[in-house]
Amino acid sequence: MAELITRINRLVLLADDNDEMSLVIEAMLDMMAFEVDRARNGQEALEMCDATAYALILMDIEMPVMDGLAATKAIRRQESAALTPPVPIVGITGHTDPGTRHLCQLAGMNDVLSKPFLMEHLENKLTTLCVMRMN
Ligand SMILES: [Mg+2]
Repeated sequence: MAELITRINRLVLLADDNDEMSLVIEAMLDMMAFEVDRARNGQEALEMCDATAYALILMDIEMPVMDGLAATKAIRRQESAALTPPVPIVGITGHTDPGTRHLCQLAGMNDVLSKPFLMEHLENKLTTLCVMRMN
């Protein structure tokens, strides 16, 4: 069963308004054999998440239209209303302070990555959260 899920869902939603950062992250995900959909703000992420079952969401905190914290809260509300299992959401932020991390947790994120990060850091988070979800 776990093997089947690994095989069929390697689709990650990357929500980030920064094109350069997104290219770097997309290249990392590609090297780890993940497919990527890109959203440029939280509103787009919310709509895409409603339409598609993602293995995981990488959510930038600071975005126009709707920020990553608001989008995460909206996704969690959507999941509760639809009784669907929560998709793992990893916040990505340039801020490293404990306050930001706490806000991410309160919004319903599973974890936070501080930018810039190495591919191995991203890989660790993805492996941990995707494995957790399969069990
Ligand atoms: Mg941003």
